[in-house]
Amino acid sequence: MCGIAAYYGKRSAVPILLDALKVLEYRGYDSCGLAVYDGKIRYVKTVGKVSELLKKSGELPDSASIGIAHTRWATHGRVTVSNTHPHFDCKKRIGIVHNGIIENYQSLKKFLEGRGHKFRSRTDSEVIAHLFEEMLRNYPEEEAFINSVKLLEGAFAIVALYGDKLFLARKSSPLVIGIKDSEFFIASDTVAISRHTDKFIFLDDNEVGIIRDRNLEIKNLDGFDVNKEIKRIKRTEEEIDRGRFETFMLKEIFEQVETVENAYKGRVDFKAAVPVFGGIDFDKIKKFRRIILFACGSSYNAGLYAKYLFDRFFDCHVEYASEFKYADKKISKRDLLVAISQSGETIDVLEALRKYKEKALASLGIVNVVSSSIAREVDAGIYLHAGREIGVAATKTYTSQLLTLFLFWIYLARKFNYIDFATAKRYIDELKKLPGKVGSVLKREMEIKKLARKYVKFGNALFLGRKFNYPTALEGALKLKEISYVHAEALSAGEMKHGPIALVDDRFYSVFIVPHDSITDKVINNMEEIKARSGKIIAVTTKGRSLKQIKRLSDDVIVIPGTKEEFLPVLGIVPLQLFAYHIARLKGLDVDKPRNLAKTVTVE
Ligand code: GLU
Repeated sequence: MCGIAAYYGKRSAVPILLDALKVLEYRGYDSCGLAVYDGKIRYVKTVGKVSELLKKSGELPDSASIGIAHTRWATHGRVTVSNTHPHFDCKKRIGIVHNGIIENYQSLKKFLEGRGHKFRSRTDSEVIAHLFEEMLRNYPEEEAFINSVKLLEGAFAIVALYGDKLFLARKSSPLVIGIKDSEFFIASDTVAISRHTDKFIFLDDNEVGIIRDRNLEIKNLDGFDVNKEIKRIKRTEEEIDRGRFETFMLKEIFEQVETVENAYKGRVDFKAAVPVFGGIDFDKIKKFRRIILFACGSSYNAGLYAKYLFDRFFDCHVEYASEFKYADKKISKRDLLVAISQSGETIDVLEALRKYKEKALASLGIVNVVSSSIAREVDAGIYLHAGREIGVAATKTYTSQLLTLFLFWIYLARKFNYIDFATAKRYIDELKKLPGKVGSVLKREMEIKKLARKYVKFGNALFLGRKFNYPTALEGALKLKEISYVHAEALSAGEMKHGPIALVDDRFYSVFIVPHDSITDKVINNMEEIKARSGKIIAVTTKGRSLKQIKRLSDDVIVIPGTKEEFLPVLGIVPLQLFAYHIARLKGLDVDKPRNLAKTVTVE
């Protein structure tokens, strides 16, 4: 889940690497390090953020024009300086940075210790440096590196610095090489290096890259050259600028006015009232009998929302990717797979896709990052067009996922004639009102901040909703957990009475998502049940016939604009994002980089 950066060229490597690390910090940020080669390897490491590393980087020579860097999200070994990357071989002639997990590290370590290697860290990654060193005893450098990579099991993106050369390898974790004349910029993500070039080569699984003598070679694990396409990806500068906002998360919450519009703009034929998905070959997918959505975290919640839509006409399953990939589910040529991942790199989603895609009719990917692994491996990518999301907690990409899934549903429903023109037109007309309605929820920020002040002292929260608002409850609770570290649980409101209601007392508050829709009265009954047990209630609702009753039952009420039932989740989540945000800020927490999390989850 970490970020890797490396540089080979003629300029001073340290500032280029620090700059790239700063951008990559959203991927992992518990510790970071940097090594350069200047006749010998020199390095600095620190626990904490890149700003700390910057302070130490003065110790490194300006003259070094080749180096590697890493920002870590620890999997094996605590967050300490000795476990921080780069890791080295015994003689410190090889430095490596690694993203992922080496699953067979224990047996490799045992073997290498038997051969006299001395380890300095508790990480899985350090074996890579010693293994390369061991192989160099018997093989020339290229073969030694390839032979080492062949012995590694698990997931990895690796850059090894050996003399004035770089050796790269990839399996399941992303690694991209930016090219500008005879300069090479390597990173986990194009955004970290896109200020230097717009020409990129994406390393694929089981490929290695060797950069020496100002030249890049890409080979497979048999040592044969691989011809790679150079892709051009333009940089959008404002993507990594906070603008007038105090945090990226707040900026991204407010951007939803535009991103909600971007999710449908250019994708709907308003005259015909049908979405248009250019990349999808309908003839290829139309024989499906079942849709299987799989995802993790917020993307899973978006998938669950979509299930309520698809269930109306189709057989639809939604799965946690981390479970799905080990479930041995029977998949046939009647199954349409839909992978959902903001980053397009989520390893659980990627591996589930790889396991099942050949057996299925077709695979689609709903992703935000266009050049990502999932986008490249599915039959057709459906993009969110939400722009880069830097805040670790998903906000704008969540609402974009909801709408993209909605559009895909109506696309299929129209194709199969389950929805007629007039009905579709009503949906599409309402769709166009959503950006304005999101804007009006955002105007309530101060009111929500006040609410956060009132509830910041509580250690427990329940989020409750039913039908389309149940995923909103899940997502609202997830936001609160992620950034404010408050224990929050979400339930379908109807499930409350089957056990969790035992938790409720006056130290507990419940957030009900209870807009006026087809199930309001049932949710109101569930509110009564909490009220009868002295639980505090915050209600997110719309204007309508039961508003008075909802107000009577609630300690606090947030009124959002009304819309079609299917679009309520887009509006309903916005106050919950703001609520979690302000609770976290009141607690003085770093909302953009919450503890223990990382934006792109490339470890299992
Ligand atoms: N497994 C390695 C470690 O714990 C790398 C983790 C990462 O991707 O940051 O150090």
